Amino acid sequence: MLNLRGKLMVLVGIAMLPLFCLLVLESASRYSLAFHTTGLAGESAVQDARHEIAIILAVALLAFGIAISVVGWLAELRVLQPMRHLAATASRLSRGELDARVDLDKIPMKEMHIFATTFNGMANSLQQLALVDGLTGISNRRQFDRSIGSEVVRANRMNGGLALLMIDVDSFKAFNDHYGHDAGDGCLRRIAATLRATLQRPTDLAARYGGEEFAVLLPDTDEQGALVVANAIRAAVRGSAIPHENSASGIVTVSIGVAALPSTPSADVKTLIERADRALYAAKESGRDRIVVSDEAANAEAFGGAPKNENA
Ligand code: GH3
Ligand code: MG
Ligand code: MG
Repeated sequence: MLNLRGKLMVLVGIAMLPLFCLLVLESASRYSLAFHTTGLAGESAVQDARHEIAIILAVALLAFGIAISVVGWLAELRVLQPMRHLAATASRLSRGELDARVDLDKIPMKEMHIFATTFNGMANSLQQLALVDGLTGISNRRQFDRSIGSEVVRANRMNGGLALLMIDVDSFKAFNDHYGHDAGDGCLRRIAATLRATLQRPTDLAARYGGEEFAVLLPDTDEQGALVVANAIRAAVRGSAIPHENSASGIVTVSIGVAALPSTPSADVKTLIERADRALYAAKESGRDRIVVSDEAANAEAFGGAPKNENA
């Protein structure tokens, strides 16, 4: 439990006790001998002996007290403080702070260090389970909700841009009906992989929003930048050429709604999502396999150059 120095100090503390007992006994017998052999006046010899024994006992008590304090101090430093840190981290995790981790530098004891490392591994798994979509391996809705909240706050504070793409697979029910649910799952995995491969910046976030709908969050991106990314995604999904017998183009396509934060501050999450959703709805309404930017959603002007026969 304690390191070598701590163990030595405890040993010295314990070894001092019998040593002082011996000193007391030796002193007492010395005075008793002096009393008998020199015939010294009884009272003064006994008083001298008492005095010396009292001093020895006081020193012994003091040394014992110091030893106990040192042990207590070591226990505080090496056991209690690390345990408090562990308990505080566990409590942060249980409150939903999924990125809380034990600071291993604060855990000096080897055994507790092993426990803390295992604890951090457990927290990593928990975070993975809580924030990653099990089917596609990209972020899930919970992670998206956390990210969009903090990104909107950041964009408002820094006066920076933020864009949101809402992406929905076209005629996916028909895909499932024709190829089966497992093939549908495989298709969703491929689209998620395409999203991941298309996004360039490490701060971009691709998430499965629900069912066959995906969301992409693009920090520091304006409407024009978002449109470039949306076009790249639409082209990459088409480029995958996943067969879809029951769609007009014969392959799997997506519709995308784009919304970017306005340059005026105090934009909010709800409005941004609603605008991207309305744009997606407009893309669906105007024929699928296309991109609609939020501002144009009202008149359903479509981008993306979808083939005419898909606009029916
Ligand atoms: P639209 O072009 O208007 O988007 O039509 P759609 O058929 O894609 O939309 P709809 O909402 O009618 O159907 C969505 C389908 O997506 C129905 C549902 O079974 C399927 N789906 C949702 N989640 C999953 C999933 O995890 N795996 C599979 N295989 N299918 C899913
Ligand atoms: Mg769909
Ligand atoms: Mg849908």
